[in-house]
Amino acid sequence: MASRRMSAQSTIADLRVPDYPSNCLQFTQQLTASTTQTLPQKDASVRLNIILAGAGLGGLATAIALAQAGHAVKIYEQTPVLGEVGAGIQIPSNSTRILFSLGLQSYLEPYVTAPESISFRRWQNGKVIGLTKLIPNFVNDFKAPYYVIHRADFHSALCQKALDVGVEIELGAKVVDYDPIVGSITLADGTKHSADLIVAADGIKSVARNVVLQGDEMCFQGPGFAAYRAVVDVGKMRTDPDLSWILEKPALNIWIGDSRHVMTYTIGAGKAFNMVLSHPEMTDPGTWKPETALEDMKAEFQGWDPILSKIIGMVEKTVKWPLLTGTLLKNWTVGKLVILGDAAHAMVPYMSQGAAMAVEDGIALSRSLSHMTSKDQLQKALSIFQEVRKKRAGHMQEASLLNGKLWHFPDGSLQQARDEAMAPEVQGIPFSHSPNQWSDPATQMWCYGYDAEEAIDIAWMESLEARVDCVH
Ligand SMILES: Cc1cc2nc3c(=O)[nH]c(=O)nc-3n(C[C@H](O)[C@H](O)[C@H](O)COP(=O)(O)OP(=O)(O)OC[C@H]3O[C@@H](n4cnc5c(N)ncnc54)[C@H](O)[C@@H]3O)c2cc1C
Repeated sequence: MASRRMSAQSTIADLRVPDYPSNCLQFTQQLTASTTQTLPQKDASVRLNIILAGAGLGGLATAIALAQAGHAVKIYEQTPVLGEVGAGIQIPSNSTRILFSLGLQSYLEPYVTAPESISFRRWQNGKVIGLTKLIPNFVNDFKAPYYVIHRADFHSALCQKALDVGVEIELGAKVVDYDPIVGSITLADGTKHSADLIVAADGIKSVARNVVLQGDEMCFQGPGFAAYRAVVDVGKMRTDPDLSWILEKPALNIWIGDSRHVMTYTIGAGKAFNMVLSHPEMTDPGTWKPETALEDMKAEFQGWDPILSKIIGMVEKTVKWPLLTGTLLKNWTVGKLVILGDAAHAMVPYMSQGAAMAVEDGIALSRSLSHMTSKDQLQKALSIFQEVRKKRAGHMQEASLLNGKLWHFPDGSLQQARDEAMAPEVQGIPFSHSPNQWSDPATQMWCYGYDAEEAIDIAWMESLEARVDCVH
């Protein structure tokens, strides 16, 4: 009898995280934190020589995570001068939490802006139809702030930190070939360099991806959109009484309408007003004319909210950017080569998560390597990394495409139903679901509450349990 009573008691090991979306086991995290102390901490016991191709946001974040775990990291970057194209970028809470854990808080703080909220506005008149409170909600719920920043500042903060933790960076070094079996790269100058592991963070036009896919070309899906990127001088906006209110408090404002949207926020700690204007585009980027971009952009948004039109009227130059989404790849790794960031999972920027996914990739790769107890386990560490990250980034590609559909309804019954479903968040009434994926409680927890290192730990634990089951 006593033994029957004993066996009916649940232990923490019986509490498997359900497959359905639920946070009912969140309370066990504190307890598992003490049990996972038996797992390797950040420091790797097997220290590797690692070559990284590409010093973009993803490559640098990955290099920092790997170097901090004790690996020797050298980056080869094709451009002779480091930098970032474009103006603003959002650093969502799932990314800032990782960046802070890597010691980047003090490197980022001088440059970031913490917006109070995200307002979705009706295209025609700017009426607020959806509202996500970022302050204090995101810090309270996801234990990290939501930031916006100038890309150049983000890049230079990462670069400085990488150098401070001992990462070597060689500029003007274009990788033209990879040998995944030997673990080597060939540079454009003909020199070869080898290492225990080659990580390629070489962006959307990745050369390494073709090697990993072994002849299976990935097809990009043109979702049928392009974006104009522009910056407006806040000095001009401040002197216009119709516009100055937008700058009073840092915030993101997104105007949404038929097939188009305009995402805006201030960057450079409030010094510039950043705009991304998405619109339908089916033609080949090779045929686009930079000299007509400004007038084309203004024509695309004719008849939109007069306030927005006034801001668009202040834009003096713009760059048109193709928006592409990758398809789910079969592999991210072959032999001693692994790809990550946009090389592995390009996505449309409608969840503002592309670089955040690359930051998550970086910490996840480092964590998976930290579980190795011998160099023979490299393949296992890479394959666990691939499985965990493919799932997460694949879902984010899907969520990003869905935003493009949710935001772009033409006026009509679907648009009205969407706006009604967002009304409670504007009115401050409790809600259980929302078409605004920044506010929808289930999407929020999945997107911003995700713990990339824990996901890797669980996958390693499951692989060890599976081995024990096989032995029995
Ligand atoms: C309009 C727009 C808005 C966006 N907004 C956001 C946002 O708000 N938040 C967010 O998280 N993401 C956003 N993104 C996505 C984000 O910009 C990308 O996901 C991110 O920059 C990808 O980083 P990466 O390091 O993987 O690739 P990249 O930034 O492309 O870096 C690749 C690096 O590799 C180098 N390289 C390439 N080939 C070679 C080679 N053969 N040898 C050596 N070096 C090589 C390149 O020179 C480059 O430095 C946005 C994207 C767009 C287009």
